[in-house]
Amino acid sequence: MESVHPTLHDVLQTIENAAVLAGRPRQVGLLAVSKTRPASAVRELAAAGQHAFGENYVQEGAAKARELAGLGLEWHLIGHLQSNKCREAAEAFDWVQSLDRMKLVAALDQARPADRPPLNVLIQVNVDGEAGKSGCRPDEVMALADAVAAAPRLRLRGLMAIPEPHPDPAHRRAAFRRLRELRDALAARFPGIDTLSMGMSDDFPLAIAEGATLVRLGTALFGLRGR
Ligand SMILES: *Cc1c(COP(=O)(O)O)cnc(C)c1O
Repeated sequence: MESVHPTLHDVLQTIENAAVLAGRPRQVGLLAVSKTRPASAVRELAAAGQHAFGENYVQEGAAKARELAGLGLEWHLIGHLQSNKCREAAEAFDWVQSLDRMKLVAALDQARPADRPPLNVLIQVNVDGEAGKSGCRPDEVMALADAVAAAPRLRLRGLMAIPEPHPDPAHRRAAFRRLRELRDALAARFPGIDTLSMGMSDDFPLAIAEGATLVRLGTALFGLRGR
């Protein structure tokens, strides 16, 4: 029996209200971003029914996934991935949302253990062209998608972005819209893709209005981070 978690309940309600407003009831999922939070906090949310968790650092996520292996949770890597961490990432996670360069495709494909289902992959796009940020350029998405789709141990699921936290909501909304348009172009070539990961605690209703299917929330669920 699931326990009651008032914050999770409120967040799910807000997500569903935004989804209904966007005309897409029950089509937006929640990724609980548990970076810097102890395994006990994950366990608490899991007991209340939350299934998918996101981590920024390979080692931290792998350690929590090991500690909580019995709970049947789904682990997503959402932080920048260094190529020397691909093996550990491909072993510990169910999804990598931060694939943003060609080099990672073969590294993840070769490292995904044969006894696991293919690794789910989102291509991360630097959607507002900020210098020095993770994510591929919009014009690199198709080539990366072709490579992921051709890799037998990877499964292309869609796109992810972290738009610049701009104070003007219209500016953020435009960034979300650009990612959705890229997803639409990608879906014309790969009809199987089903995931548009965008929206964080500050802006997830806007992201849902623009087509998000998965929002990534840390602060809204766990409170402010200490670091
Ligand atoms: C930390 C983080 C989040 C969650 O951010 P909040 O503002 O705490 O909701 C989502 N996505 C990525 C990629 C992150 O690094």
